[in-house]
Amino acid sequence: MTLKNKGKGGNVIAMKSYHYIIVGGGLTGAAATEGIREIDKEGSILLVGKEQDLPYDRPPLTKKLWFGQKKVEDIVLHNAAYYAEKNINLVLGREVTGLDKEAHAITDNKGSTYAYQKLLLATGGCPRKLSIPGGDLDDLFYYRYLDDYRKLRAMASPGMEAVIVGGGFIGAEIAAALNKNGLKVTIMFPGEYILSRIFPESLARAIEKDYRTRGISILSKTLPVSIEKRGDRCVTTTSNGKELVSPIVIVGIGIQPSLELARTAGLREENGIVVNEFLETSGEDIYAAGDNAFFPSHGLGTLMRIEHWDNAIAQGRHAGRTMAGAHEPYRYMPYFFSDLFDFGFEAVGTVDSGLEITTDWQVVNEKGIVWYLNNGKPAGVMMCNIWDRVESAREWISKGKKVELGEILGAHA
Ligand SMILES: Cc1cc2nc3c(=O)[nH]c(=O)nc-3n(C[C@H](O)[C@H](O)[C@H](O)COP(=O)(O)OP(=O)(O)OC[C@H]3O[C@@H](n4cnc5c(N)ncnc54)[C@H](O)[C@@H]3O)c2cc1C
Repeated sequence: MTLKNKGKGGNVIAMKSYHYIIVGGGLTGAAATEGIREIDKEGSILLVGKEQDLPYDRPPLTKKLWFGQKKVEDIVLHNAAYYAEKNINLVLGREVTGLDKEAHAITDNKGSTYAYQKLLLATGGCPRKLSIPGGDLDDLFYYRYLDDYRKLRAMASPGMEAVIVGGGFIGAEIAAALNKNGLKVTIMFPGEYILSRIFPESLARAIEKDYRTRGISILSKTLPVSIEKRGDRCVTTTSNGKELVSPIVIVGIGIQPSLELARTAGLREENGIVVNEFLETSGEDIYAAGDNAFFPSHGLGTLMRIEHWDNAIAQGRHAGRTMAGAHEPYRYMPYFFSDLFDFGFEAVGTVDSGLEITTDWQVVNEKGIVWYLNNGKPAGVMMCNIWDRVESAREWISKGKKVELGEILGAHA
């Protein structure tokens, strides 16, 4: 449908009108299209995304694409036929730069304006940048998007040096990926040990030992202080005076939620766009979900923002259903996962090394359970090389019950 609205200067502008508009073509945005269509088979949908690619799965960017387990075409969430069949309009390669909540309209960076009845902000997050000299060099990989993978893949060749800044999941995973592809990897981070915000020290030390054995150089308690370009290499100077010369520098120091649009419209924000249990923002008919949403966690009884795959999918779908009229509270407790060479895990709840931690190993630092306790009760559970126990873990947390390993492993022991 095309509407005519008065623009700011009083001139009449034609704009297309949709029942649902989704801003952001990531996991959350794609899942929202599914959620809408579960309830409303007819209502018009527009999805506007900044990236050129059809919405795709992000976790393989540091894992399966590098291990030969998936190709780029395998990570696309839905092919073009899905969007056509479900009558979902896609506008890709465009950034939404304006949101007029009174007019119920958005504007993209090419000046096109679209009216909505319900709007979902699924804008996710952007990589944090290093605020050091050279932190803005075009040559650095602030690794998040499929285009980053394509560029890095084209550059990376066996024997090449790669410096990685950041000892969180992105840094640890891409270090493993490049090592498996024959590159000489150095990873640096400010903490005492790798993944120090999540892992207990003994587990992190075991992971570090494995990394070193495989040839990865680990510089803990180390920060980059400057990065400069010399010829076709980058020279990274560290806080302890080392110079690391490499064609590849990857930075994975976390993300910040993309809040610009929400700010434009004056929506409430804290550590993300504030939403209630229905994923409604403070703006009428505007919803937020995924990496950008600050929401009340039913299971954990706190307000939080989650940067994980399962939450993006579940919340995106939920927002879609809610916009289409389901109006159910979001009560889901998401899980997350990672793979670091042979060590894989699934985790639920608050997995924070600042909590009291107890471990229950069948094989120390390889197979077992890490419990994160709050006043003696499980707040988080990490199941290390133990699979298909996510649902049980949700129950342990909800009931505040710690279970013996033998009971958990059962026939799997
Ligand atoms: C390399 C990598 C590996 C990961 N591995 C794991 C893992 O193993 N396990 C796990 O649980 N999680 C993992 N994650 C996290 C998980 O992928 C994210 O939580 C999830 O992708 C978030 O989805 P999202 O759609 O909310 O946000 P995003 O993925 O950030 O997508 C938002 C999209 O919106 C677009 N956008 C933003 N603003 C605008 C605008 N104004 N106009 C138009 N478009 C806009 C962005 O360009 C982007 O395409 C990984 C993330 C990365 C980057």
